Amino acid sequence: MNFDLTDEQKLVQETAREFALNDIAPTLVEEERNHEFRLDRVRRMGDLGFFSCALPESLGGAGFGFLESVLMAEQVARVSASWRLPFNMQNLGPALTVAKFGTPEQQERFIPGWVAGTQIGFFGMTEPESGSDVAGMTTVARDRGDYWELQGSKIWVSNATQGDAGLLYVMTDPERKHRGMSAFILEPKKVDDLVATDIETKLGLHCAPTGEMAFHGAKLPKDALLGEPGDGFRICMWQLNNTRLGCAAGALGVAGAALDAAVGYANERTQFGKPISQHQMVQAQIAEMALEHESARMLVYRAAWLKDNGRPNQYETSLAKLQASEAAVHAANECMKIHGSYGYSTEYPAERLYRDAKSLQVVEGTSNIQKLIISGIACGHAPNR
Ligand SMILES: Cc1cc2nc3c(=O)[nH]c(=O)nc-3n(C[C@H](O)[C@H](O)[C@H](O)COP(=O)(O)OP(=O)(O)OC[C@H]3O[C@@H](n4cnc5c(N)ncnc54)[C@H](O)[C@@H]3O)c2cc1C
Repeated sequence: MNFDLTDEQKLVQETAREFALNDIAPTLVEEERNHEFRLDRVRRMGDLGFFSCALPESLGGAGFGFLESVLMAEQVARVSASWRLPFNMQNLGPALTVAKFGTPEQQERFIPGWVAGTQIGFFGMTEPESGSDVAGMTTVARDRGDYWELQGSKIWVSNATQGDAGLLYVMTDPERKHRGMSAFILEPKKVDDLVATDIETKLGLHCAPTGEMAFHGAKLPKDALLGEPGDGFRICMWQLNNTRLGCAAGALGVAGAALDAAVGYANERTQFGKPISQHQMVQAQIAEMALEHESARMLVYRAAWLKDNGRPNQYETSLAKLQASEAAVHAANECMKIHGSYGYSTEYPAERLYRDAKSLQVVEGTSNIQKLIISGIACGHAPNR
């Protein structure tokens, strides 16, 4: 077994690290304060090839796989958890899904813009009354002959107010439950009777906009359908198994950042005549953080490797997401504690890491939902796909 990254993977990792340190870190505090989402930064990430992973060359792929995407998202999230979201919103969500299920026309029309970062992507499944229970959604697209007519709303959609083109999951045949769900490519700015609004009460991820989309008879062209009517649930689960890994990579980055910040402070801060890192209980806190971070790293990289090698990976992806997001929250919590009162101050990064980390336990399936997937496969109730 070889745990070494290739020279190319190390270069990819280093490029992302430098980008995060040079392009994001210097202005992050102010941008966080202003809840600023920068289109120019998404484009720059596109220019650097961040959104070209796991795509064939003919569709803009640069020879990178899921592992490269994970390495880059991890490095970016070490500096800002907000800025790891575009990996999912451009590449692992919309671009990969349209590469897999789209027609050649859809692929040609939409994928280049997502890869380049010139077209802001998103995916919408969550509704006010259905989150974990995806098949419980009630937003409907009715076939009106020449077009599809949308009624209903989506909530908690990343990039809702910024999106140029993204994936929308709705019911086309509600009686058939999950078999009546369909996937569409939605271009919100080209659709009348669609109102998108930002959610301004978010606890963290202040540079990653999240919002609502309300459809009041909005019309979608017939060719907006992705796959066949009724394919939506299958497409959605396939997509989530990819974007879940992106989230796990982000969590790995946050856990690492919290560990670094805690170690740095523990070595500097002196109490009872010695650095607090020489007090056994602080050492135990750091040891636990290190253990959880390293085990998350193994799980996340392995899930990426399985994907890159075309192996079943749903089980491993959920293990990775569960471990990494719980490790991130625990590490950020311990980091705040190790900082004492300063952990409770916005002058130090600990509180932001904590606020951002909490989102990771919720998105792409909550920790409980990951446990359902893991135990379902472990008990033989479902195959590992
Ligand atoms: C920052 C952020 C960004 C997001 N971005 C997107 C996006 O881009 N697109 C999108 O569609 N959605 C997005 N979401 C929504 C997110 O995916 C949902 O919030 C998530 O799936 C949980 O749904 P819910 O909030 O309705 O919680 P619920 O499903 O109501 O769950 C509430 C609680 O009940 C538990 N629970 C529910 N069912 C079960 C069960 N069967 N067994 C055990 N426990 C259960 C859950 O684990 C949770 O603790 C985002 C959310 C956040 C916070």
